[in-house]
Amino acid sequence: MRTPDSAARAPAAGQARFVHDPDGFARLVEGAQAAIGRLPGGVVGVAPHSLRAVTEGELAAVSRLGDGPVHIHIAEQTAEVDACLAWSGRRPVDWLLHHAEVDGRWCLVHATHMTAGETRALAASGAVAGLCPVTEANLGDGVFPGADYLAAGGRFGVGSDSNVRIDAAEELRLLEYSQRLTARARNVLAGGPGRSTGADLYRGALAGGAQALGVADDGLAEGAAADIVALDAGHPDLAGRSGDQILDSYVFAAGSGAVRDVWRFGRRVVAEGRHTARDAVEARYRTALAGLLA
Ligand SMILES: [Zn+2]
Repeated sequence: MRTPDSAARAPAAGQARFVHDPDGFARLVEGAQAAIGRLPGGVVGVAPHSLRAVTEGELAAVSRLGDGPVHIHIAEQTAEVDACLAWSGRRPVDWLLHHAEVDGRWCLVHATHMTAGETRALAASGAVAGLCPVTEANLGDGVFPGADYLAAGGRFGVGSDSNVRIDAAEELRLLEYSQRLTARARNVLAGGPGRSTGADLYRGALAGGAQALGVADDGLAEGAAADIVALDAGHPDLAGRSGDQILDSYVFAAGSGAVRDVWRFGRRVVAEGRHTARDAVEARYRTALAGLLA
């Protein structure tokens, strides 16, 4: 899609292969909708990458393709905010909330740089903030206004974005620790005094993540998808822990090293801490990487 903040900046040579016109993009979405018929629980959403990648008309057209999730990266860095102010007179999140029908289908990825008014307005929209604390730290982007956003009832999920690390616990830990460092306070994102920060972070991200994916968050219930993560009860970081303390130890200490088994739609994909296709996946990864670096 063409760039917006100018309606004119041409894609760089390396970006050109990712660029589509709206008709071409609509065909891609149709093809994806046909292809997911073979996938259990498949959902098709659209992601017009960023405000820098679409015009207002393209954004409206793309967000009307299907009724799945709409994801957009926004307000990640201050230079983007400055550029948006220069071309539109509004900050990115403010611009989006005024020019698109942002609702519960939407996931605003990053949304790092918001005023207090934008923070409240995003929370009120029902959209999900798709936070990527590890990436945002790695890139030196800034800190999401988490305390104000949650106080306003905002919904959030976490994602890996740049894939520099893939670890759900690490994302949640860094989300909380970034708030502590800026607020000089503890347990900032817990839902109240005496509550488990790990459990509140985990459950909040689970609900917001499910919403952003366009799937139900039914938990362990009859008729629900058997999506289950089992932690290793013998992991030393979980010793002596019970109830929500287990989630505190998973988020703030053990991390992905404590994940023992994972079932997706009832199929065991991680067994004894190892993905069942690990050897084949790793071999293909090494081959692909060697080809890319050659
Ligand atoms: Zn991003």
